[in-house]
Amino acid sequence: MADNSGDNDRWFHRTLTQAELLEELAERFGPDRWRWAFRCPACDDVATAADFRDAGADPGRVGRECIGRHLGALGGGPDGGRATASRGCDWAAYGLLRGPWTIVMPDGKELPSFAIADAGNAVNGGGEDAATAANASTT
Ligand SMILES: [Zn+2]
Repeated sequence: MADNSGDNDRWFHRTLTQAELLEELAERFGPDRWRWAFRCPACDDVATAADFRDAGADPGRVGRECIGRHLGALGGGPDGGRATASRGCDWAAYGLLRGPWTIVMPDGKELPSFAIADAGNAVNGGGEDAATAANASTT
């Protein structure tokens, strides 16, 4: 699929509350939180909470880390670990370049987040009880 959005769109910054984020996710992907997907701004990989679970990673990290960090990208080369990862890269929303989205939690704390992926990209499903994907734990 051609991606004509370019870097500007990819890095488009938004600030929204956690409630707004959850609402948008449910609207776009349905109520099953395992299917909620975010797009890595660095490599464009779209990962769901189910992908993280399947990779043996904490599903709560979806939207905050590229799944590549759990699939071999860490310690990879200057290409963001893309050569060593089975998919994704070593990007994290809380890294040097934050976001591109900012989620304002109920307590006012701001958490950097990847952008929500386009609908239709999330193909993996889980079913059982929700990963608290976007429920970003603040503890
Ligand atoms: Zn990535």
